[in-house]
Amino acid sequence: MSIQNEYLSGLMDRVVARNPAEPEFHQAVREVLESLVPVVEARPEFIREGIMDCLVEPERIIKFRVPWEDEKGQIHVNRGFRVQFNSAIGPYKGGLRFHPSVYEGIIKFLGFEQIFKNSLTGLPIGGGKGGSDFDPKGKTDLEVMRFCQSFMTELFKYIGPDTDVPAGDIGVGGREIGYLFGQYKRLRNEFTGVLTGKGLTYGGSLARTEATGYGLCYFTDCMLKDAGRSFEGATVVISGSGNVAIYACEKATQLGARVVAMSDSGGYIYDRDGIDLACIKQLKEVERKRISAYLDTHPNAEYHAGCRDIWNIPCGIALPCATQNELDEQSAKALIANGCFCVAEGANMPSTPEAVHAFQSAGVLFAPAKAANAGGVATSALEMSQNSMRFYWTFQEVDEHLKKIMVDLYHNASSAAARYGAPGNLVAGANIAGFLKVGESMLAYGIV
Ligand code: NDP
Repeated sequence: MSIQNEYLSGLMDRVVARNPAEPEFHQAVREVLESLVPVVEARPEFIREGIMDCLVEPERIIKFRVPWEDEKGQIHVNRGFRVQFNSAIGPYKGGLRFHPSVYEGIIKFLGFEQIFKNSLTGLPIGGGKGGSDFDPKGKTDLEVMRFCQSFMTELFKYIGPDTDVPAGDIGVGGREIGYLFGQYKRLRNEFTGVLTGKGLTYGGSLARTEATGYGLCYFTDCMLKDAGRSFEGATVVISGSGNVAIYACEKATQLGARVVAMSDSGGYIYDRDGIDLACIKQLKEVERKRISAYLDTHPNAEYHAGCRDIWNIPCGIALPCATQNELDEQSAKALIANGCFCVAEGANMPSTPEAVHAFQSAGVLFAPAKAANAGGVATSALEMSQNSMRFYWTFQEVDEHLKKIMVDLYHNASSAAARYGAPGNLVAGANIAGFLKVGESMLAYGIV
């Protein structure tokens, strides 16, 4: 689809020319610029004052080598990245991804999305993202520690509790955050909330682990209720079995749904009786095993190699929670044909543009990642607040804040969509509501 505004269409062409071979970044920018057409038509100063051009250009990109030694004495050199995309409304905030597919374009796409997501939370956090092409899978704890220490030995120069506060993402969980925080503390000789997702004994927030998955379900629940539906009695398919997927499964189940399928990068399991989440947690959070091991204790379930066909399983609600572009047009059509009435994105940009179009055309309720998975970063911001206050809230207090943030976020995105002529279109609504706060702040600063 072309962008229906001459200036924004030209800007998109420049983004593609200036950032060659970064298709994920182009995809993310295109979607936002498409949504912002009615905004710049109503408010031409966003173009006149250069805000749109600044928006698509990161404030800073840091790229560095990360040498480390494995247990056999062999030296490896990975690449590290931190994209500090936009600090208009607060310190850069966004996770670190350790996965072999990481390159500059992936981190730019994630950092760009993070600007709007963070703004949507209503909290004072800017957009950033980082990571490395390091693969923690199959590495020993010692190797992961060495890698994290080397990574932080460079990164610490550029971050700080009022500058840039990284967190976890794919491949970066509690273990990695511990090693990263320990090294930052050692290098700076200070104990500050420079990372979020920390362990509970050293500054972490209760409910941060659960926040993205729980928040996804709180958001989805609002959307379902507005349409006269609910999780109660619904069949749910969830891709992934990492942090987001596990806690989405937990909350969806608490809300009365039956989750029948989950996956990892090797394949998916289908358990018609409903997924035994305690088993998944044991396999993934404790033993770090493949999801196929679920069948060792649940012989009635099915395992299928490859992830794609998970979307052929009949369900009412689909929650893609693994990775970008995991759900394409063909999968979207299979979901629709099987009666799926709601798709909410737990992962970042898991649906291709063609899939999103298919859902919207078929009247499927669709919650875009920027809005639906914002509960994680919102709770990270709550962790920052607790660290600044040197105080802890209870699980219930954090969960209540999270719920309120997700409900407000839903209404904010939904009313922005209606205000700018796209009622019910939460993709447009989230992009517009997220942008307006950032855009207004950038206007206030003048050319910086
Ligand atoms: P985890 O590393 O905990 O889990 C990722 C899951 O997705 C694993 O099951 C993994 O399988 C699977 N996966 C990863 N890459 C692929 C791939 N290429 N194909 C198929 N499956 C894949 O990550 P998170 O749960 O933290 O993150 C999942 C998504 O949610 C990401 O898009 C992330 O950016 C997004 N997100 C995460 C937030 C958070 O708070 N954690 C906040 C907001 C968004 P395997 O183990 O086999 O690799």
